[in-house]
Amino acid sequence: MSQIPCPQITDLEDILPEEPLLMMGAGPVPIPQRVAKANSIVINHLGDTMAQVIEQVKTMSRYVFQTHSPWILGVAGPGSAAMEMAISNLVWSKTSVLAIENGFFSGRLAEMAKRAGANVHRYQVEQQSLPDLAVIQRLIDSLKPEVITLVQGETSNTVCNKNLQEIAEIAHAAGCYVIVDAVCTLSTMPLPMDEWKIDAVITGGQKGLSSIPGVSLIAFSPRAYERIHSRPTDSPQWCLDARLAEKFWHQSSYHYTAPVSGILAIHEALALICRETITNRFQRHLRCSLALQRGIEAMGLELFVPSQARLNSVIGIQLPAGIEQKALLAHISGRYKVEIAGSFGLDIVRIGQMGEQSRAHHLFRTLHAFGCSIRDLGGKIDLPTAMAELERGLQAYTTTESKPVD
Ligand SMILES: *Cc1c(COP(=O)(O)O)cnc(C)c1O
Repeated sequence: MSQIPCPQITDLEDILPEEPLLMMGAGPVPIPQRVAKANSIVINHLGDTMAQVIEQVKTMSRYVFQTHSPWILGVAGPGSAAMEMAISNLVWSKTSVLAIENGFFSGRLAEMAKRAGANVHRYQVEQQSLPDLAVIQRLIDSLKPEVITLVQGETSNTVCNKNLQEIAEIAHAAGCYVIVDAVCTLSTMPLPMDEWKIDAVITGGQKGLSSIPGVSLIAFSPRAYERIHSRPTDSPQWCLDARLAEKFWHQSSYHYTAPVSGILAIHEALALICRETITNRFQRHLRCSLALQRGIEAMGLELFVPSQARLNSVIGIQLPAGIEQKALLAHISGRYKVEIAGSFGLDIVRIGQMGEQSRAHHLFRTLHAFGCSIRDLGGKIDLPTAMAELERGLQAYTTTESKPVD
């Protein structure tokens, strides 16, 4: 047998763009220097140093999730792995699940529950609107679900379930376990887990937290954790089994080799949130997102979702007539070195406002690049007015941007 020949490969330098792109899409988002630096370090995944890091990650997570629950767990994997961890530990064969579905990611939760063997009822929420509380109450009364799944922010179509607290209240009153996907929103807007009586909150690294993709966090309420410990069968997912993950996250022992660099990175991302405080961080996100929305509208464009259901963490924008989504994304990236996102099947573009994306200087560059790109492609917009409105918005929504981090 002849040996498989050694392949010819292109140097990474020649593959990557000459100048780093400003990542203003729906994630991954830019990471602070401290996060990048931590991500370049490898340490022993067990032992005293790691134990100290893990303790602090859990302590800081409790602040960010706003929970007293000890049951913080991490997972080596994308936000979807954390979603699957929540589902596969709380849901099993024949569990009755009500999935509140307003888009791609809430649909993914429903799909995961179905694959876990649950009886899933999907409540498909009308496009661009909030779930109806009366419908949810009726579905709870008739289906008696044990578990309810939903997203806080539906990144795919930029809908925000602003009545999440009321939904969780209704669900809790009926004894349901509430699983909330906050991959996009955690640390960008309030989600006080204990106060709102949520049983599992899921987040990823590369969005609201401004860490790297591939290491995610999850918080379970004590009540949810009791359910996990009293499951009738072992979780079929060995890697995602919370009872096994507990060994690493709560007993300083081995489950699988932890993604050490990514955990150090998330430690730094959480430390930056603590230094900023969540109150200031929410304020910064709100101010930046509202100012950017104001600039986009002043340009003459329309936002995709009406304000009562609009997500601030990712802004969905309707394309002007004659502008093709793909061409616009390629142009703004190639010419202006700014990356924004399309969407799943929708004719909109999305600009992220998560973590490091919500900085005034990024907003100016992004709005300018966006307007110029539309103009370059033959669209009619008012760019000077847009830029002025962005500045007015920043001044109007508050005068203090929290101190930039080093
Ligand atoms: C991005 C996202 C996910 C999936 O995260 P991955 O890291 O891509 O697996 C899930 N839910 C929401 C709301 C998201 O925005």
